[in-house]
Amino acid sequence: MSEAARSRLIPEVDFNAEGKQTGFIRLFHSVHASAYGFIPIPIVVVKNGEGPTALFVSGNHGDEYEGQVALCNLARTLEPSAIKGRVIILPMANFPAAMAGKRTSPIDEGNLNRTFPGNPDGTVTQQIAVVIEHVLIPLADVVCDLHSGGSSLMYVPCALIKRTPDDKRHAQQLALLKAFGSPLAYMSGGGNGTGTDSTLMGGVERAGKLAVGTELGGTGQVTPAALRIVERGLRNVLVHMGILPKKMRIKGEETRFLDVGGAEYFVYAPDSGVFEPAVELGDTVKKGQVAGRIHFPETPWAPATEFRFARDGFVLCKRVPGRTARGDCLFHLGSDAAA
Ligand code: CA
Repeated sequence: MSEAARSRLIPEVDFNAEGKQTGFIRLFHSVHASAYGFIPIPIVVVKNGEGPTALFVSGNHGDEYEGQVALCNLARTLEPSAIKGRVIILPMANFPAAMAGKRTSPIDEGNLNRTFPGNPDGTVTQQIAVVIEHVLIPLADVVCDLHSGGSSLMYVPCALIKRTPDDKRHAQQLALLKAFGSPLAYMSGGGNGTGTDSTLMGGVERAGKLAVGTELGGTGQVTPAALRIVERGLRNVLVHMGILPKKMRIKGEETRFLDVGGAEYFVYAPDSGVFEPAVELGDTVKKGQVAGRIHFPETPWAPATEFRFARDGFVLCKRVPGRTARGDCLFHLGSDAAA
């Protein structure tokens, strides 16, 4: 039996029906307060004739809201007559986490974006991964997984793709990233080449479909600037795929492309205490430059622990909460890339 057939989740929508359908994917979850009930994961399908399919996902991490707002706006406004093909909208992928406004699920502590390909007999979060990997992604030609920094991180809003050793796939994904039209975009180092990437983007890569992601800001808030970037990007992805006509394209800004590589791009807290950043988001920094200090206000006479950047780069992401534990990610950098 295929993993799709073993998925215990039941979509209320018919993915092959014409027109606009709204409803829920039913995830049956028997608990004390609801013996025969289901968790209702909202889904919208807009279809008009033959053509490519785009799958737009947000709420993979439940404390990232920019994508959720963009997909609410799209779910209300996208009409079948405007498109050729199909758009599937999943705004609260990890529904229990998104309802709780948390990165992970309050039911099983599951981080959906570390759970792919999931397990049809597993926890709630593992079952959600299965329906995305084995039911939704196979329907799609292109997938957009809309993230931001969540509660603990802030990004300069950007779009991203995962680098791949497959040159043809890289060229197709780079074209998609250029079409997205965000002012900043980055290419992540890519997986370990073993096909075991446990993120949603890893699932898209396993299926051989195109994937573009975002990091739209964060700190548990929505900004008009980030919304403009993601709404324009989604529209332009639909135009790029031929689902919307060319005249619907919104001209983007010139994109600055960055690479995000290995460990030297990341700065982690060397100690637990209060984080004092020494640079701002969007700054350009040099190898050896002081990145920040950890202070110990409980013994204020103790020297602060200073730490430095391990390479040159652009400050793409920074931690927001001041209180910090050893091992927390405090910054990550990007470096200018040819594209
Ligand atoms: Ca995220």
